[in-house]
Amino acid sequence: TIGDNLRRTVLRVPDAEALVVRSQGFRATYSQLWAWTGQAARGLMALGVQRGDRVGIWSPNRAEWVISQYAAARVGAILVNINPAYRVDELQYALRQSGVSVLLLARRHRGSDYAAMVAEVMPGCPALRLTIVFEDGWDALLAGGSSVSEDDLAAREATLQFDDPVNIQYTSGTTGAPKGATLSHHNILNNGFYIGETLRYGERDRVCIPVPFYHCFGMVIGNLACTSHGACMVIPGEVFDPAATLEAVQEERCTSLYGVPTMFIAELEHPRFAEFDLSTLRTGVMAGSPCPVETMKQVQSRMHMHEVTICYGMTETSPVSTQSACDDPFEQRVTTVGRVHPHLEVKIVDPATGAVVPRGVRGELCTRGYSVMLGYWNDPAATRAAIDEARWMHTGDLAVVDDAGYVSIVGRIKDLIIRGGENIYPREVEELLHTHAAVSEAQVIGVPSQRYGEEVMAWIKLRPGASVTADELRQFCLAKLARFKAPVYWKFVESFPMTVTGKIQKYRMREIAVAELE
Ligand code: ATP
Ligand code: MG
Repeated sequence: TIGDNLRRTVLRVPDAEALVVRSQGFRATYSQLWAWTGQAARGLMALGVQRGDRVGIWSPNRAEWVISQYAAARVGAILVNINPAYRVDELQYALRQSGVSVLLLARRHRGSDYAAMVAEVMPGCPALRLTIVFEDGWDALLAGGSSVSEDDLAAREATLQFDDPVNIQYTSGTTGAPKGATLSHHNILNNGFYIGETLRYGERDRVCIPVPFYHCFGMVIGNLACTSHGACMVIPGEVFDPAATLEAVQEERCTSLYGVPTMFIAELEHPRFAEFDLSTLRTGVMAGSPCPVETMKQVQSRMHMHEVTICYGMTETSPVSTQSACDDPFEQRVTTVGRVHPHLEVKIVDPATGAVVPRGVRGELCTRGYSVMLGYWNDPAATRAAIDEARWMHTGDLAVVDDAGYVSIVGRIKDLIIRGGENIYPREVEELLHTHAAVSEAQVIGVPSQRYGEEVMAWIKLRPGASVTADELRQFCLAKLARFKAPVYWKFVESFPMTVTGKIQKYRMREIAVAELE
């Protein structure tokens, strides 16, 4: 279980630094982290939390988040990660749907008064019997733990099974309403372990984690990969800020840095980028959405991340299915999502027939193995639609595998543009636009067209101080792409509709575009 694994690390490297939260001035070694999680675990037991109970957590990145993650696992509770961006209705839905009985939360976040929002939804959530606000209830939670003995906690831990559910994680909501993936100790602990193996983590490593814990990128690729290897988790602050992240890397001498592509772009383009000493960096992870080759190259050359890797996966698969290796050749490392992780299987099928396609042919990526979730919480129909009888998870992503086993993600099936019968992969057009000197970020979608069914539209965020016209960009595309792929509609923007995980919501772009084009 997750608790057993943490204990093993604590016995191995008790004095190694485990957790640094810069915004709170918090530092703990592994033996201190063990003590904190034990105290919080006994506190949860004192409140009557039983094995299988759902404990919700609604907070940006804080030390209490990490401690609660391990404390809940140690008492056999199921932690329910609640998206920090939720508004009242979404909060109520998540709390009711998962049956949260105890909710841990920050008092407020980004101008939202969480405590007031929870008070508002409480009457509609009969299972919710207790809320603990970190800023004022945390000490009492820990103090309450003194009424439960170490032996009682050990007895509880001894009853836990490796395949017990430990976490309900809601997906990012990139393509619509988030879904609650139920994951076991076995699912996420193994995945975190193999991620750490792939990144060659050891107790020398200090990993800068600016991605939210509420998402598997933070809590598995981040926390579990670190704690299974004795590496240190370095948290720059509550929400992503490019300068605070670069400063954390410099001051904490981080060896690894994480982010979705938009975060790395924001760091590379930060006006003070050159002032930061990033020379301690060795590796890191870019993941979550298509990683522009140009951005990967810059991360490698300008951020010293000569062993940077890309992870591919989804919440439902713990999350990582494929990852590049630190010693993969440069070309494969920056252009593919690497090869399948140990003990997992990947196959590419024709989405229409389900038949496996030959190498080099595009199709839907399916994956199978220990990483596949137990199911969507309380939603057997959705689970059956995603996981087939042979336990293959159908990802909804289009991919292609080369002869050496490297996987490339072509795009989501839902984002594929079909124009006059021709398939257009937005990714291909976006990659080209990213090589244009004036373009900071490009996103391509299909919009309805009477004549062709769909037509191609590009949204462009320019680099600071750069200027270019839509016509110039179209000419640039026409010089390098088949005519039908070149965007017809162009929109210049300052930002894109995004999830809190920093992922661009193309379904919302389409809604906005349709409304504007009408
Ligand atoms: P929702 O399912 O709620 O619409 P989501 O699919 O974005 O949101 P996540 O589970 O966070 O929720 O993300 C998984 C998806 O992210 C994958 O299915 C894939 O489309 C995309 N993805 C993840 N990593 C990569 C990557 N390295 N390259 C391309 N796409 C990626
Ligand atoms: Mg998804």
